Amino acid sequence: MPNSFVSEGHNGFEKADLHIHTKCSDGIFTPEEIVEKARIAGLYAISITDHDSVLGIDKAKPAALEKGIEIIPGVEMSSTYKGHDIHVLGYFFDYQHSDLKEYLDHCRHLRTERAERMVSKLVKMGVKIGIEQIIVKAQNGSVGRPHIAAVLQDGGYVKSFSEAFSKYLGAHSPAYVKSIETHPADVISLINKAGGLSFLAHPAQNVPDEILKQLITFGLDGIEIVHPSHDTYRQNYYREIANEYFLLFSGGSDYHGMRERDNEIFGNVTIPYQWVEKMKSRLLNA
Ligand code: AMP
Ligand code: FE
Ligand code: FE
Ligand code: ZN
Repeated sequence: MPNSFVSEGHNGFEKADLHIHTKCSDGIFTPEEIVEKARIAGLYAISITDHDSVLGIDKAKPAALEKGIEIIPGVEMSSTYKGHDIHVLGYFFDYQHSDLKEYLDHCRHLRTERAERMVSKLVKMGVKIGIEQIIVKAQNGSVGRPHIAAVLQDGGYVKSFSEAFSKYLGAHSPAYVKSIETHPADVISLINKAGGLSFLAHPAQNVPDEILKQLITFGLDGIEIVHPSHDTYRQNYYREIANEYFLLFSGGSDYHGMRERDNEIFGNVTIPYQWVEKMKSRLLNA
């Protein structure tokens, strides 16, 4: 028997990708280009989840409307807990919400300041780059380490993107500066305040199990199950944890475009649309 929350016109097995970056943060494609890729890949719904930015959503909407693709408001928010970089995905929130907007504006400044601090560390190490180059690379988007990595590569300081991280920018490398230090509970409550659902992003990427259990107590609505860094074993593992705590499932490609770690094809990492329906049903019953 079909689930009651599956709307007419689809069976719940259509594909969705709820983790995509654009030029509004560290992706290389515009939101409009992403929508076109989604059309070609035959995706039913997508969410643009830029790092600490919602500016891509309005850019994607007209193109998505035209092509009949559902856009779920999304964001990937940075936070820090016990020294771990914790990424929280938000969905279905009011992306015009004033508290959220104000907070994301603040993040924008923090990210630019952080890039300035990383650049001065690099300059002291003899790497002659300037903050202006990073700003140009980021093209008005949320500034992040990938923009610095790209400038390092352009300048011939590293041969590859991954070398930029291992040699300079990684969490244990000399030019690293800590990311946004907001507590994940605050990020989660901001998403809730704006009417959305929060998910822990890619737990297999540096979230030890005891930390994951603590994060759940902060009010997460779900866990990202499908992610390129999760093999089948990990997917099943996190699914079991989600089920144990009555949490929702999310997932997506974490597509950024190009780069060695992202030599994936758009549309290859997806979730069944039914997971999205379950999110909607949770929101209705909240
Ligand atoms: P930031 O938000 O500035 O801390 O940068 C984090 C982003 O950098 C991630 O979302 C990835 O896009 C990218 N990133 C992190 N580590 C690596 C790595 N080792 N190689 C390539 N990209 C990375
Ligand atoms: Fe990124
Ligand atoms: Fe992330
Ligand atoms: Zn991401």
